[in-house]
Amino acid sequence: MTQQTQQPEVNIGLVGHVDHGKTTLVQALSGSWTDQHSEEMKRGISIRLGYADATFRKLPNVDPPECYTVEETGPDGEETEVLRTVSFVDAPGHETLMATMLSGAAIMDGAVLVVSATEDVPQAQTEEHLMALDIIGIDNIVIAQNKIDLVDRERAVESYEQIQEFVEGTVAEDAPIVPVSAQQEVNIDLLIDAIEREIPTPERDESESPRLFAARSFDINRPGTTWEDLKGGVVGGSVVQGKLATGQELELRPGREVEEGGSSEWEPITTEIRSLQAGGQSVEEVRPGGLCGIGTGLDPSLTKGDALAGQVAGEPGTLPPTREEFTMDVELLDRIVGEDEGSVEEISTGEPLMLTVGTATTVGAVTSARTGEAEVSLKRPVCAESGAKIAINRRVGARWRLIGIGTLQ
Ligand code: GDP
Ligand code: MG
Repeated sequence: MTQQTQQPEVNIGLVGHVDHGKTTLVQALSGSWTDQHSEEMKRGISIRLGYADATFRKLPNVDPPECYTVEETGPDGEETEVLRTVSFVDAPGHETLMATMLSGAAIMDGAVLVVSATEDVPQAQTEEHLMALDIIGIDNIVIAQNKIDLVDRERAVESYEQIQEFVEGTVAEDAPIVPVSAQQEVNIDLLIDAIEREIPTPERDESESPRLFAARSFDINRPGTTWEDLKGGVVGGSVVQGKLATGQELELRPGREVEEGGSSEWEPITTEIRSLQAGGQSVEEVRPGGLCGIGTGLDPSLTKGDALAGQVAGEPGTLPPTREEFTMDVELLDRIVGEDEGSVEEISTGEPLMLTVGTATTVGAVTSARTGEAEVSLKRPVCAESGAKIAINRRVGARWRLIGIGTLQ
């Protein structure tokens, strides 16, 4: 079925508090199609960032919003029309995985904020994730008010009003709120309708030089594989501009750390694209939208265990510089969001910060702090352009909390 395996053209994040129904909603929207991903992709991509593609379809001769569906055939056996294939990035809701959510946000074109009608609004990660969308600049948002099958009419209305009040003055202020039951598959047509309207496929310029944000990297060889059968390292991620094709040369930055005479240095890695996987099949070219797997000529020991996650890939000579230290403009939040709210103190010289830049997460020590500006020295360098947005996290108690946004100078 060729229609079914078209490449996704837009990445939509699923964000919100743990147990509010993100994974269930992805299942309701993607049907059985995720099963068609190859084992490697499934193993590789979905472990930390859940990931599934969904093809939105339309029943012929039915008006919106009732026409929207993910089924291939309608109630009378009629074939449905393909609208587009989207890719869902299912962010983990657990508080300790905030860094993963922030890295995921770097590749999201829009987001569905899932809020359970059974709990008061906002729960800690509902607020924290919305703040993260704001920081990364994701303003195409749809709110799914989930689990309406578990509440009575009165509570449904109350929860709806709580959500409206909560998003007032935020990036989600004008986002439609769609009451759904992910588990009972109620109002999924209305949700697709809202996504179609609010999260359009961004316009892409194919002539831009290609750029991929790596989210994962792995070794797909089984233990004991002989060297003749050994497959090169695989890098998984999302193309954010231009297009990548098989046979092309690829540079990865920061690359790898090379020890030389007692000191170490980061060196870009170059390789070639031997194979590409996207939308669950082998392809010759990959464009923005969805996650893809790149089979490279690299020694798999270099890609094992996400060693290259957070790196940036593209045509040799076109990538932004590798930075072991940088200065950023800093905008602090008024207060720490989440359950133990408190005001955000100024950043001080010497303190460690966890910084998310693109899909990279790294710890940096502040070498100089002034109001509105900080210089940091990184444990692991990042490849980033001047102007890049940085999510700034500070250790508060046992965990890293989002305290502000930086802009690379
Ligand atoms: P996540 O942590 O946000 O990914 O939440 P899950 O999708 O794992 O859902 C958490 C629990 O809520 C699971 O037991 C789901 O079956 C249940 N759940 C999710 N959506 C609904 C819903 O619409 N109605 C009901 N009754 N249960 C739901
Ligand atoms: Mg989940």
